Amino acid sequence: MEFTNKTVLITGSTSGIGLAIARDFASKGANIVINGIGTSDELQVISNTISKDYGINCLFSISNMLIPDQIRLMIHNTIIEFGSIDILVNNAGIQFVSPIESFPEDKFNEIISINLISSFHTIKAVLPTMKKMGWGRIINIASAHALIASPYKAAYVSAKHGLAGLTKTVALEVAELGITCNAICPGYVWTPLVEKQIPDTMKARKLTKDQVIKSVFLAAQPTKKFVKMEEVASLTAYLASDLARSITGALISIDGGWTAQ
Ligand code: NAD
Repeated sequence: MEFTNKTVLITGSTSGIGLAIARDFASKGANIVINGIGTSDELQVISNTISKDYGINCLFSISNMLIPDQIRLMIHNTIIEFGSIDILVNNAGIQFVSPIESFPEDKFNEIISINLISSFHTIKAVLPTMKKMGWGRIINIASAHALIASPYKAAYVSAKHGLAGLTKTVALEVAELGITCNAICPGYVWTPLVEKQIPDTMKARKLTKDQVIKSVFLAAQPTKKFVKMEEVASLTAYLASDLARSITGALISIDGGWTAQ
């Protein structure tokens, strides 16, 4: 798969799955825009490394996915710099684990904003350029939690189910225009987002760290293995390819069999 002359913007790509997706598209020749929480200096280091490793153009944006004006500016600046955005990957996301009665209201709002509403803003801002080109790929990194629920993740599950709905709606609106919109639904992937859930999950479920890994995370997945970031990146690249032009409005699981149960 080659993505030379294509521009890919990946939100939340300074670590974990987003960074793996950025590196994978860079290895296939695309122009890349990375984004995430951090200082300009920190993001500059990551983007310089990607440019150097793969000999491609990589820019960065420190736009905060909580702030619609910053999201629009990121899209605008990318189009000015590269002429278009061909592939948009909505990946930025956070998690918080707590029983609903003690779930902090500001945390709930923050998760809905980053994990769901930011994708509404990126998609809205990017569609005019994709429509002009008659080609585009929108890939939303949802979760197994877009399809099923787990206790203590009220905000995350709500946001990811919402993202599934947004995915299907956008797919229908642009179906005749050469643009596809799909959601990838990973199970547990070993990244900082998963690691950071361990202390609160230990507290909410009264378990040790080892028990959380074995009886919560891996117990969910019949393969008893974490999904690898590279596997999610590879599926993303496939959905962005011309061969995937008939896949749209789909919620595609990559979860070691979790949601087959
Ligand atoms: P991660 O914590 O490694 O990365 C999250 C990224 O989002 C980082 O680059 C961070 O800077 C960025 N981010 C956070 N808040 C932001 C904000 N306000 N504005 C801009 N960027 C922001 O997490 P990850 O595990 O790689 O998760 C990436 C995506 O994959 C998330 O949407 C997550 O819900 C989803 N996902 C992860 C798993 C998993 O097991 N790790 C499973 C299913 C889905």
